Amino acid sequence: MVSELLREGCMEWDTELVKRLFLPQDVEAILSTPLSVSAAADRMVWAEDKKGRFSVKSVYRLARETEAKEGKASCSDPTKLHGAWKGVWRMNLPNKLKHFTWKACNGILATKESLFKRKITADDICEACGSQVETSLHMLCFCNHSTEVWKSCKLSLPFNIQESWGFLDTFSRLRFVWDTQQEKLERWVAICWGIWKNRNEVPHGGAKRPGQVIVRNALRLVDDFQAAIRVPSQSRSCTHDTTRWRPPPPGYFKVNVDGAIFAKSNHSGVGVIVRDGDGNVVAAMCRKLDLPLGVLETEAKALEMGVVFAEEVGLRDVVFEVDSQVLINAIHGTCEAVSSVLNIIQGVLQKAQSFRTFDFLHTKRQGNAPAHLLAQQAQKVEGLAVWLEECPSQVAHACAKDVSLLQSSF
Ligand SMILES: [Zn+2]
Repeated sequence: MVSELLREGCMEWDTELVKRLFLPQDVEAILSTPLSVSAAADRMVWAEDKKGRFSVKSVYRLARETEAKEGKASCSDPTKLHGAWKGVWRMNLPNKLKHFTWKACNGILATKESLFKRKITADDICEACGSQVETSLHMLCFCNHSTEVWKSCKLSLPFNIQESWGFLDTFSRLRFVWDTQQEKLERWVAICWGIWKNRNEVPHGGAKRPGQVIVRNALRLVDDFQAAIRVPSQSRSCTHDTTRWRPPPPGYFKVNVDGAIFAKSNHSGVGVIVRDGDGNVVAAMCRKLDLPLGVLETEAKALEMGVVFAEEVGLRDVVFEVDSQVLINAIHGTCEAVSSVLNIIQGVLQKAQSFRTFDFLHTKRQGNAPAHLLAQQAQKVEGLAVWLEECPSQVAHACAKDVSLLQSSF
């Protein structure tokens, strides 16, 4: 099993063991596969595509290459689920609503249908209407009570939802149609969640709430949440000068990260530096990784370590900055990540939920100098070096330069 190749208790390859067990070219392949510290769930990856996506084109190519045999691909549709995953985590909603949506997309909400399948209940009939199977979609959109909720809200849907669709289908279609109107999708999800919440209150003695109350409470939750996080989203929308270091918004910390590759020794390095709004160094670290990672994989590991480090340092409102545009695009979901870093990106996004507010920005190399130097510095470090409340001497000059540029810009 793959897990036996990991060091006990952590998500790192047991390099010595791997080298002992495998041939050199396999060792290279194994160690250059970056692992996510957050132990993301295993995924099906379509090996014929660089991004791990199943596509007709890649099947066609494979079929041509292997000359015949049926190119039968897996029957489930990982593309749709992956698209939904990104859609869920990009929504501007409290975590509990995202988790609810993700469960519903995966068909694991504790509805009667799902409980019956797992042999927990004797039947799968909806308790509210007593006549239909309680699927997620029945409970959220078609049962008497939920239709009353939807009638009392002003959100008009772009199409009629069909009872046969399932939640993932419905969510995917709404996401597609409301591509540029994400706030509508967020409202739709919030109302679904309100219906689900009330449905769970009733068996425990809670009152069945009128439709308007469910809608009002759900939308208020969204408004309050979005008002509270408005600050960092502004920092993203304003086009900032990426050739120099910019301070985070007041009260925030900025975490710059970078990766370095030491090709000769088959190692890579990670540098992380945390600064406040005045450019003071709050914490820094660099780490040498005994792994022959590629450029993007190293950058992704650097970001992951930056997120973990920021959490360990106890930051709550954070802006992360990297100089890899590809990585930032993948984080923001504006383009698909290559599959070798997909787990790391998912882990980073999940981990980031533990901050009160966060943002991910791109900067140019010039705006990321201290992190770059720290990543280079990792070559000379045995494992890990950490500085708290002090500036590593190796980057003192670069940090002072950032601050002086900062002052000259006012
Ligand atoms: Zn029902």
